[in-house]
Amino acid sequence: MRRLDVLVLGAGAAGMMCAIEAGRRGRKVLIADHARAPGEKIRISGGGRCNFTNLHTAPDNFISGNPHFCKSALGRFTQHDFIALIESHGIAYHEKTLGQLFCDGASRQVIDMLTGEMRAAGVDLALATEFESVEPARDGFTIRLSSGTYTASSLVVATGGKSIPKMGATGLGYRIADQFGVPVSDTRPALVPLTFDEALRTRLKPLAGVSADAVVGCNGISFAEALLFTHRGISGPSILQVSSYWREGDEITLSLLPRTDLFEQLRQARTANGRQSVHNALSAHLPKRLAHILCDNAGVEGKIADRTDRDLKRLAQAVQDWRIKPTGSEGYRTAEVTLGGVDTTALHSRTMEAKAVPGLYFIGEVVDVTGWLGGYNFQWAWSSGWAAGQAV
Ligand code: FAD
Repeated sequence: MRRLDVLVLGAGAAGMMCAIEAGRRGRKVLIADHARAPGEKIRISGGGRCNFTNLHTAPDNFISGNPHFCKSALGRFTQHDFIALIESHGIAYHEKTLGQLFCDGASRQVIDMLTGEMRAAGVDLALATEFESVEPARDGFTIRLSSGTYTASSLVVATGGKSIPKMGATGLGYRIADQFGVPVSDTRPALVPLTFDEALRTRLKPLAGVSADAVVGCNGISFAEALLFTHRGISGPSILQVSSYWREGDEITLSLLPRTDLFEQLRQARTANGRQSVHNALSAHLPKRLAHILCDNAGVEGKIADRTDRDLKRLAQAVQDWRIKPTGSEGYRTAEVTLGGVDTTALHSRTMEAKAVPGLYFIGEVVDVTGWLGGYNFQWAWSSGWAAGQAV
């Protein structure tokens, strides 16, 4: 039986950050993962360029049963601390939009940075290693892995959520929480495309592949980003964002051309060229296929000269206040993150340690803290991993 100070389960973003910090503090650390490579989600993230943080990260960008919980960790290891680490490794990056920072090159650089830092901190990395069991021991935990049995004063659970099982997500963290009586709030896929029922899918089929800028709202929150119609429903950044707030039975509102006085524009089009069709006039502002569907939704068709102000107002409203009722989501197969998880009331916000189980820590996505799209989820992984790394 090998004796460790810290065993970190899961070599993803949060686990590696925690291992680095604990190693730097002189702890004897092993980080284990059943995958063959560390940081697989980092590798595929941000379309291969890893949106590693967001310049504007603030507690408001996170969803949690306790919105205050994330404040301590986010405040102690900030986006600027992570940016400083990236810069110290000479990794070039850029802001794409809305404060989202991406590598100029491949996301591999972020993984190499983290594994390099782990080596420098004397952390042992065990890949292709299965977790078998954990039991409380006199001064910590006895953990059985496929590579052997270990005792550790601290066990850090950094096994992520349930999203993308094909990439190694197992939900192990929730089972460990259950075993130790740490409560777990309901989980559901988030940052995920939404799907339509058969009737709406058939009706909107011509729109597959069409994208547009929009303000998309649901349950009192809205996001101004692109949306994209798919064969199964609707996607794009604005939809992924509201998917975290949407529940079965809810409508979403799509406001296309949100900053345009569309009624006025349509009136002007009628004066300038009354012989054109209404959908041609609308096509000056939106993709043709979308314009067709929206005219149809509003029941406003034919020559624009024949349409009254009331008709044009109705069309403008159909464009700027389009209500759609998705029936489901694409689920964990494509969800970027898992909403819910280890209940924050059971954890110390400064350290991520379970209040009732000294030495047991939960960090990253397994915790009920879920960020918006745009680099926030990695920042939570870095911040919560760092916080636990100071405490173990
Ligand atoms: P993970 O990164 O999921 O790491 C968990 C680790 O635990 C994995 O290595 C896994 O193999 C291991 N593990 C799981 N079960 C077991 C087990 N039973 N035994 C042993 N090991 C186990 N967020 C952003 O901020 N920016 C982005 O650009 C971004 N892009 C994304 C793109 C995609 C396609 C996806 C799916 C997610 C993206 N995210 C992004 C979200 C981000 O990847 C996660 O929030 C983040 O990886 C969570 O870090 P974590 O360390 O908690 O968990």
